[in-house]
Amino acid sequence: MIGILGGGQLARMLALAGLPLGERFAALDPSSSSGVRDLAHLIVGSYEDPAALDWLAEHCDVVTHEFERVPAASARRVAERTPVHPNPHVLDVAQDRLSEKELFARIGLDTPAFATASTRAELDAAVSSVGVPAVVKTRREGYDGKGQVVVRADADLDRCWDALGGKDLIAEAWVDFDRELSVLAARSTVGETVFYPVVENLHREGILRVSRAPAPALAPELQSAAESHARSVMTELDYVGVMAIELFQVGGRLLGNEMAPRVHNSGHWTIEGAITSQFANHLRAITGRPLGSTRPLGHAAMVNLIGTLPNLDEVLRVEGAHLHLYDKEPRPGRKLGHVTLVDDDPEDLEERLGRLQALVD
Ligand code: AMP
Repeated sequence: MIGILGGGQLARMLALAGLPLGERFAALDPSSSSGVRDLAHLIVGSYEDPAALDWLAEHCDVVTHEFERVPAASARRVAERTPVHPNPHVLDVAQDRLSEKELFARIGLDTPAFATASTRAELDAAVSSVGVPAVVKTRREGYDGKGQVVVRADADLDRCWDALGGKDLIAEAWVDFDRELSVLAARSTVGETVFYPVVENLHREGILRVSRAPAPALAPELQSAAESHARSVMTELDYVGVMAIELFQVGGRLLGNEMAPRVHNSGHWTIEGAITSQFANHLRAITGRPLGSTRPLGHAAMVNLIGTLPNLDEVLRVEGAHLHLYDKEPRPGRKLGHVTLVDDDPEDLEERLGRLQALVD
């Protein structure tokens, strides 16, 4: 049995990919209504619940996580008794934007200029050192644009401190990027490493809206550079499983934004758009199996369904629309599902993507 810390849509899609491989799943999640509940043995409990963690350690051949805010101490407790992939140290790094950026710097992936701050005086100094506009983020616990304030002028510093003060912060130079990209890679227990084509991502209000894969008109050198950075990060962390690194493209340069030590929203297109999905490859990696081909089956686009669901019949009328729903209650800003389109012809894909987006927005 495979254990998953977290029971949301990523756990759900891992279970959906694992059932045909004969795998069974258990998931730990604080919510009894989490999306994996029909597909796994669900343990409802906190991520710090020793009895729940020990149950997973005892019953599972391997344990993984579906999100990086699981306490690293919990993963360590499980790892004393059963393999945990990716290893718990990965959580230490991914939970702190500073450690993440230090790791990127170590392996030669440039990042936006940054400076840390814990007091108001340090915030002023940090923003003045990176310059305005700056993005101030909490070092820990921020996701989907939460825990972030854009500072456009010194006058915004009061507002920023009111919103975020008291936490450890990191100020980053605002990057006037051409586009956002991500690279997804998988590494197995024996160090075999595979890479998906780099993905182009559109965000609004800090939340991923649309991914296109392969990223249109990406220079081959950037694909190679992204792969080489991902390989270095994974080697450095002795990583096992799928990882995503979010990048900013500025001309011919890539800057590292953050990493997701797990399957990632910008890889959902791989379910229908690649020979082996990110979910299947994550499971193959953590169970010590050979990895599958990451070759794309055409041009793919993925649209997230956020906050409220559109008219689903209209969505399904868009030719070739693959609808995925996560069985979650609608709530503003919440990811409720996604739709993927795959086509040999990029122009046809764009035409259908346009129709889909008109239904979703
Ligand atoms: P994050 O939580 O760090 O991934 O940030 C969420 C989104 O905010 C990113 O996907 C970008 O669209 C935007 N963003 C974050 N950091 C920066 C930055 N330094 N410069 C410009 N945009 C940023």
